Amino acid sequence: MLPYGRQWISDDDIAAVAEQLRGDWLTQGPTVARFEAALAEYCGTRHAVAVSSGTAALHVAALAAGVGPGKVGITSAITFVASANCIAYCGGIPRFADVSQADGLIDVDDLHRRCQALDDAGSPLSVIIPVDFAGQPADLPAVRRIADRFGAVVIEDAAHSLGATYTVDGANFRCGSCAHAEMAVLSFHPVKHITTGEGGAILTDDPVLYKRLAVLRSHGFTREASDLLDRDGPWYYEQHDLGFNYRITDFQSALGLSQLGHLQTFLTRRRELACLYDTAFSQPRFRGRLQPLVQRVATANSYHLYVVNLLPKVDQPIEALRADRLKLFEHLVGKGIRPQVHYIPVPRQPFFRRVFGVNPGEYPGAMAFYAGCMSLPLFPAMVDDDIGRVVSAIAEGLGVA
Ligand SMILES: *Cc1c(COP(=O)(O)O)cnc(C)c1O
Repeated sequence: MLPYGRQWISDDDIAAVAEQLRGDWLTQGPTVARFEAALAEYCGTRHAVAVSSGTAALHVAALAAGVGPGKVGITSAITFVASANCIAYCGGIPRFADVSQADGLIDVDDLHRRCQALDDAGSPLSVIIPVDFAGQPADLPAVRRIADRFGAVVIEDAAHSLGATYTVDGANFRCGSCAHAEMAVLSFHPVKHITTGEGGAILTDDPVLYKRLAVLRSHGFTREASDLLDRDGPWYYEQHDLGFNYRITDFQSALGLSQLGHLQTFLTRRRELACLYDTAFSQPRFRGRLQPLVQRVATANSYHLYVVNLLPKVDQPIEALRADRLKLFEHLVGKGIRPQVHYIPVPRQPFFRRVFGVNPGEYPGAMAFYAGCMSLPLFPAMVDDDIGRVVSAIAEGLGVA
């Protein structure tokens, strides 16, 4: 089976973990700090806080951003559920903005309208969480302007976009750099660019947010003399807030550091493979049937996913397109290829409908995107022939072989 994504662990990764296991620290120790410094340096931020998952990273970031009971947070309708769950974890109200069907990225005009509507209704907006879907940077400068206008904090969900870049007025920015966000969140799940098994991180330039994130990661404890209300012996600490055990371990951080050393190779290979797909799908036989995600100008995708959209035939209703997609999916599975669908629109999930009264009908872009999208196998250990195999199977499945 050729899966849609897969980690690449090499001998030096294994050696790095083994060495760590022989050392003194199993849980959070000095290697976590080294991993954080390397992440911050790569992304170009002053601080990084490594945690036990990308979901944990989103949770503490939302708390640090001030999400709480009665406060609203908005994310993209096409994302992994964790981008919205983090708002609910804090007791806040998750809301969504629609996406553009061509690229699955947050539609900033729709975002602006929804922020305005919330503002008109007197609902306090606390955070906007744009998502760099599939590895392509969202329109972060536009999100920044909207957030400033409505007084919201921006948390970039960069779980897909480690290594991606975008250009604004001739200046180049890296996803996760916090040039247009207060915080950015990474995930090190095995299908992402680099892995620690489970793991995640929050990046920020803000020293106050940094401190708050570090405290929330570990039970809400502080030991800093300037913060303590009382004093006792060297064992003394105080809990000032309700925190969590969201720590990552030293041996996971050793894996993360070693993987970070391979990131450039991984990125180059992902881009080469994506280019092979692009070339294949530009053939006339696929025209009007299947289209890769449209790439935004002045951005460099880091290709966490390679997503294609099955296009509707003339006057084809959305239900029929979904049936065609299912048929193609099953054809590929029959050929030993395991694609995936990213994502079922979050507003369609029963939890958000039942608890927050979200109506999926208000997200036509996301629903149309969902009807035809499919993520094809893409991971750095794939060989060129794998791409040929997938393309042939798709051509067969579409009857254009
Ligand atoms: C993977 C992912 C996360 C976090 O996932 P974890 O599995 O908890 O590390 C968050 N948002 C998006 C968009 C993701 O793809």
